[in-house]
Amino acid sequence: MDNITASELAGFGVGTLLLCATIAAPKIDAFISASQRSSLGMCKRCGNLRMIACSRCRGVGLIKEGEMLGSNLIDDMYESLGGEGSKVRSISCTYCQARGHFSCPDCSKPTSV
Ligand SMILES: [Zn+2]
Ligand SMILES: [Zn+2]
Repeated sequence: MDNITASELAGFGVGTLLLCATIAAPKIDAFISASQRSSLGMCKRCGNLRMIACSRCRGVGLIKEGEMLGSNLIDDMYESLGGEGSKVRSISCTYCQARGHFSCPDCSKPTSV
């Protein structure tokens, strides 16, 4: 009974490697796509779409009330107050004024339209 066995060590190493890869993958992907876009002469932020999807409502412009709290608490509340029942209510996204997107700050400069 002395050291860790080779298989244990290998398992640990692979686990760490997988963890690192999982964490690093989105960053690497974002970096590559950004450099690709700039090499193509496209906007780094929006890829020439001239808009950026709202992260709060995911580009829809509406937010389901349940999603805001991560539960159906408000739904239950409305139901008990004689509201619209168990229907999920949607409210306008205040973050993007219900547009679902913002104009890209890099593309929407007054001079270039
Ligand atoms: Zn842009
Ligand atoms: Zn929004």
